[in-house]
Amino acid sequence: MLSPGSPRIAGIAISHPERPIVEAPGHTKLDVVRYHELVAAWLMPQLAPRPIAVVKCMEGRFDDCFFQKHPSRGPRADLDDSPPFMRVADIADVVRAVQNGTYEFHTWGASFPRLERPDRITLDLDPDGSLPWRLVREAAGQMHALLDRLGLKWFVKTTGGKGLHFVLPITRRHTWLEIREFARGLADALVGAAPSLFTAKAAREARPGRVYVDYLRNAEGATAVAAYSLRARPGLPVSMPIAFDELDRDVRGDHFNIDNAVDTLAHRHDPWADYEHSRQTLSASMRRAVHA
Ligand code: ATP
Ligand code: MN
Repeated sequence: MLSPGSPRIAGIAISHPERPIVEAPGHTKLDVVRYHELVAAWLMPQLAPRPIAVVKCMEGRFDDCFFQKHPSRGPRADLDDSPPFMRVADIADVVRAVQNGTYEFHTWGASFPRLERPDRITLDLDPDGSLPWRLVREAAGQMHALLDRLGLKWFVKTTGGKGLHFVLPITRRHTWLEIREFARGLADALVGAAPSLFTAKAAREARPGRVYVDYLRNAEGATAVAAYSLRARPGLPVSMPIAFDELDRDVRGDHFNIDNAVDTLAHRHDPWADYEHSRQTLSASMRRAVHA
């Protein structure tokens, strides 16, 4: 409960600061709040410009979580013309969300105010659980080669889960339909080149022994977990930007977590440093190359 002694982070009083996070032994709710404060310089540029969705969990347990895409309705919802999306403008908003049970922050592929014009493409490599990491690494290598061949700049991050996200900054010149078709074209090109490794079909039956290339992150209102977000999974992993060659040093999807992320960020060259300077327009020849 709130007491006069409740710690305040970013001006927000934190209730139950000592509540243990059941699936991250040794960590408390206050640690989770502090994590966000410590990574704010990296996290806020990811979150503030974009509509967000969140994963909330109750009582520090991860077996009772839900994905929330729209603002909670207040008592005067009928009079409320609040927008259909959520946003966090500053670290106080983030801390307030965490105080209220948020563990994960997910973002749209578009920024305010031009939500009708996407500004990134996210390609989600989802390996079947039985796939050895060697083949996930192989799939990532093929994605790397395809994007390089098309002359596209791309950035990669762990998801904090099983797979990897390739993220492409794009200029706000394309419609949602255009980028989804382009993303589908990329997925189809991978499947065409290595049908035993990739599938672009969402159906579970299509996935055994394969990497599902989820291009459907690229639709209006669809989200992908934000870089630097925690995941509500055992050990509180982090979705972390990486350099591609880290995959050869056995950096897997869940390598980074609440215990090692802050130190890593403080002591390395940011592999996403060029992100904001890398916006690119999808040319006619790029689209032709993937039949999109
Ligand atoms: P992993 O590497 O384990 O696959 P991930 O973040 O890519 O991690 P996915 O299950 O592949 O997890 O989900 C992809 C994205 O779909 C998530 O990042 C999230 O933004 C979105 N998502 C997840 N759950 C829901 C949901 N219940 N409703 C809508 N979108 C969701
Ligand atoms: Mn995924």
